[in-house]
Amino acid sequence: MPALPSKRLFFALWPDAAVARRLAAVAQRAHAVCGGRPLRREDLHLTLAFLGTVPGEQLAAVRAVAAGIECGSFRLELDRLACKRRQGMVWTACATKPAPLADLVDALQHGLRSIGCALEERRFAPHVTLLRKAQAVAALPSLQPVAWSVLDFALAESQLAASGATYTLIERWRLQPEPPSAAE
Ligand code: ATP
Ligand code: MG
Repeated sequence: MPALPSKRLFFALWPDAAVARRLAAVAQRAHAVCGGRPLRREDLHLTLAFLGTVPGEQLAAVRAVAAGIECGSFRLELDRLACKRRQGMVWTACATKPAPLADLVDALQHGLRSIGCALEERRFAPHVTLLRKAQAVAALPSLQPVAWSVLDFALAESQLAASGATYTLIERWRLQPEPPSAAE
């Protein structure tokens, strides 16, 4: 039987259309000040775990890990704009990492390692890349924070090309509903 094609995979939070629009607006404002190449609205995402190239035969096990995650939904407040001057990367991030986000990443890492995925040991730093190859990152514009109600997470495939990576969503999994707060 022919081998299933390998794929370059990553888990990510993928915003709905409304949040993506607000993030794209932040990217446009940053672009007006810093130049560079804004990511396309539909490509905006927050990477949770990068798997790299995975043999096609392992895809079912990767999906099973995701299906077994029992983490809760949460609210993310993207309230920081930052840059890496040398790479010209501009991104938005949260000043405080919500505990359910850390739990989700831990659960994914644990599950993926248990099926033999070699993940990076690098500390997880949640961020949404907005611009690449920005030239004038000395003065970033002020940021209107973007509130994101995170209800699910996704597995995506990345195809690299000279013109930039193309992402394809493979599947989404819902997070468990947030328990009502005591105040409600
Ligand atoms: P390009 O590599 O062409 O600049 P890209 O980085 O968006 O594009 P990929 O390299 O396929 O495309 O990465 C997909 C996602 O995974 C991106 O969000 C990227 O930041 C993230 N990522 C890539 N490599 C790693 C890594 N080693 N550790 C953590 N996240 C990674
Ligand atoms: Mg890359």
